[in-house]
Amino acid sequence: MLSIDKETFKKDYRQKFIEIHGKDLDEGTDYNKYEALGSLVRDYVAKMWIDTNKKYKENSKKQVYYFSMEFLLGRLLGSNLLNLGIRDTCKAALDDLGIDLDKLENLEEDQGLGNGGLGRLAACFLDSMASLSIPGHGCGIRYKYGFFSQKIINDSQVEVPDDWLKRGNIWEIKKTDKARVVKFGGDVRVDYTDGNLKFNHTNYDAVLAVPYDMPIVGYKNNVVNTLRLWSAEPLSNEFDFSSFNRGDFKKAMEYRDSVESISQILYPDDSFYEGKVLRLKQQYFFVSAGLQSIIHHFKSAQGNMKELDEKIAVHINDTHPTLAIPELMRILIDEEGFGWDTSWRMTNNIMSYTNHTIMAEALEKWPIEMFKKLLPRIFMIVQEIDKRFCSELKNKYVGQWDKVRKMAIIDNGYIKMAHLAIVGSHSVNGVAKLHTEILKKQEMSDFYYCYPNKFNNKTNGITHRRWLISANPKLTMFLKEKIGDSFITHPTDMINFEKFAHNIEVQNRLRDIKLENKRKLADLIYKDKGINIDISSIFDVQIKRIHAYKRQTLNCLRIMDLYNRLIENPNLDIVPRTFIFAGKSAPGYYLAKDIITLINMVADKINNDDRVNKKIKVIFMENYRVSLAEVIIPAADVSEQISTTTKEASGTSNMKFMMNGAVTIATLDGANVEIRDEVGDENIVIFGLTEKQVLNLYKTGGYVSQNIINNDVRLKKIINSLVDGTYCKDKNKFKSIYENLVTYNDEFFVIKDFYSYLEAQEKIDRLYRDKSKWQRMCAVNIAHSGIFSSDRTIREYATGIWGSKCLYKNLE
Ligand SMILES: *Cc1c(COP(=O)(O)O)cnc(C)c1O
Repeated sequence: MLSIDKETFKKDYRQKFIEIHGKDLDEGTDYNKYEALGSLVRDYVAKMWIDTNKKYKENSKKQVYYFSMEFLLGRLLGSNLLNLGIRDTCKAALDDLGIDLDKLENLEEDQGLGNGGLGRLAACFLDSMASLSIPGHGCGIRYKYGFFSQKIINDSQVEVPDDWLKRGNIWEIKKTDKARVVKFGGDVRVDYTDGNLKFNHTNYDAVLAVPYDMPIVGYKNNVVNTLRLWSAEPLSNEFDFSSFNRGDFKKAMEYRDSVESISQILYPDDSFYEGKVLRLKQQYFFVSAGLQSIIHHFKSAQGNMKELDEKIAVHINDTHPTLAIPELMRILIDEEGFGWDTSWRMTNNIMSYTNHTIMAEALEKWPIEMFKKLLPRIFMIVQEIDKRFCSELKNKYVGQWDKVRKMAIIDNGYIKMAHLAIVGSHSVNGVAKLHTEILKKQEMSDFYYCYPNKFNNKTNGITHRRWLISANPKLTMFLKEKIGDSFITHPTDMINFEKFAHNIEVQNRLRDIKLENKRKLADLIYKDKGINIDISSIFDVQIKRIHAYKRQTLNCLRIMDLYNRLIENPNLDIVPRTFIFAGKSAPGYYLAKDIITLINMVADKINNDDRVNKKIKVIFMENYRVSLAEVIIPAADVSEQISTTTKEASGTSNMKFMMNGAVTIATLDGANVEIRDEVGDENIVIFGLTEKQVLNLYKTGGYVSQNIINNDVRLKKIINSLVDGTYCKDKNKFKSIYENLVTYNDEFFVIKDFYSYLEAQEKIDRLYRDKSKWQRMCAVNIAHSGIFSSDRTIREYATGIWGSKCLYKNLE
């Protein structure tokens, strides 16, 4: 662990500042000061990074590579300082110099290379792997533009490019010497020489993949792992200088642009598949570069290729990196000279796959023609995998052609990536118990029947270092005071806090801490929006991607209902509430964008209506991202986790809220089920259809939303107010939402769950009035949150899937 005293830190910092800026500290801007601090921290990390790599080489431990299209890291200065164990020293040193550390931290751009939960999970996993001293690294794409930045203009979402690199990125190191060539298109010629088939790939377009390495610092353990992100560049010998010389700049520039476009943008789709060729290019680009560099590294460290599968594990995060399976086959067969069977056995041992969703619209499938043209050799390999798999199936299911077709990898003109991922991996996992059960008995039941041992559950987690220790220092300090600091490294020790749940003093302290966090959020809201909110009101929060299945609509309808009731009866006795929303919609997802507009227009109406705005206010905070979540979550009283049961695979913000002492209102979906099991029914508020009821309604079609609405004046009034000008002069503005609920029969059971949800909200109101009882619930939630640390999740992956050992500690 880094040990450094305040005076040395001050000296180092001043020196660093002069070194990189060529001027004195007092002449510098705040951003200069941030840069110097980041740069100094990177220096501290560099030595540990080299040492860690040396140790990995000496010990020849199995290396895990987590392949993901997305890594949603957020800011890194704070977490690096925390994990190095020098945050307090640094803060004190900067204080002496008249510099506010928090202010510098807030100048850092979020590293937003992900859409939401899936990318954030990858980031939490990197933190946990390093902190458990597991040799585990990330592999992904260095998008020039991350997830777009959201502005709310005239109540609607406007997307602005996220130019996160405009002032550079302190944490990355470009490794030009480790660049690899990735080949697209062209022809494959098959030669038969000396009794062996040889595959010659010619006329391809070559792209240079250049890695940028980022250090992933473990918590006070001297471990620094690597996140390697690939950037696409033109190959200098491919850059057509003859056309350039002829003055044909256009052609040369076109070539450059087409190459660079590969790592230009992150697709802003969440749980939705877009069959764009550029996306397929991105997938092969990083998977091929990543595997090539892993194998190059392995061989240069004197690794025996025959033992490859004992020394590396590759995890594929959702189907996006599934091409790693045929690409590894290509490398083993075409480049390393192994036969098919050996290559297949090794590939299977190396690969493991996590499924993240059962929503049909999210499942990736690529048109054969597109795939074949872009990746001719990989297509041949996929065809061979499919052929062998289908012949296995035909033996198993004699005469059951339908079954074989249904399970095939290539069918009806498409390549089904989930099928390829299952067949090519030794492990397939879901991300919460309920989700895994649904995979086994519904979505993937045929595969489960074939390979029961491949399937397993790994309930998601979150790193408590970022989401508790760093985001909520006041609560962390209080927990340390009451139960000591063992929970920092053993988060399940938070259970020791449960015995204080009844203690009135502890309850009061928890309330005070929450109030301080609420004040901080209220200040931010005032600064951003000029709206004053009442910090003694219930902070009722729904922050996540905007999606029909997540049902922000349900939340909004009950607010509209409450508004109606307050107008009818100004004396309605409710605890004042502030409804807080944040979240982005995919730019092409019009319904979700309309939901954002609706929330904002309902907010305008309510916040400006003096008859009600002492009791309720609605806030939509723009540009939801990790750093905003870090401010909102510690200030939340109520956590809204209200997806249609069966649709949310796990959810992870539910865990973040719980850990920060919010009470959850939830359907029994995803990891909400496990949260309920942990805290008990009396410490969570559950409502809505159960899994069985939902699956049954989908199966039988026995649900007609119009029937419910037509027989219910109260519901009718709310639904009509979507299209009668109440919230928007343009009566057509929310027609899409109206039609979804009424005409198209409410796919996500918003209407069906409406009254159950209202009842649950009334229960929240009652519970909150009993201050002692409420704080007791908060305390129990905190105490039981340790199991949702991603340290627990990663331990399970390491022992149950990857077979990895840690460097320093035992995993048990
Ligand atoms: C945790 C997190 C998510 C995931 O939230 P869910 O409510 O689980 O969908 C998405 N975005 C950000 C920025 C997060 O921090």
